[in-house]
Amino acid sequence: MFKPEMISFHQCMHCGTLEAECIDTCAKCLHTGMDTIQVPGVGTLVSWTTIRKPPLRFKEEGAYHVGVVDLDNGFRITGRFLPEQGDQLGDRVVVVPTVSTEHTTPTFRVEKHV
Ligand SMILES: [Zn+2]
Repeated sequence: MFKPEMISFHQCMHCGTLEAECIDTCAKCLHTGMDTIQVPGVGTLVSWTTIRKPPLRFKEEGAYHVGVVDLDNGFRITGRFLPEQGDQLGDRVVVVPTVSTEHTTPTFRVEKHV
């Protein structure tokens, strides 16, 4: 049976705000207690776009793709997206393991290509 990768979220222990980024201060209420929770990295592709002028720190990678995914547990997350021919909005997507430890954002691709 398919077993999805888990994504780490950081949840404010004060107001419950969820952050995908690894931070220790809540962006909403500035509380400094963030709890780490794990959620399965499976969901539905909402939209994606190509970033042709990447920020300086990603410059060596050239253009890259960013996707918005509605996870099955109701969270909406923005991450890297690896598009392939025939991908459509509404397709099932899964998180793929990334070799780089530098990016805290998860990388998604459509499930049928996995
Ligand atoms: Zn908070």
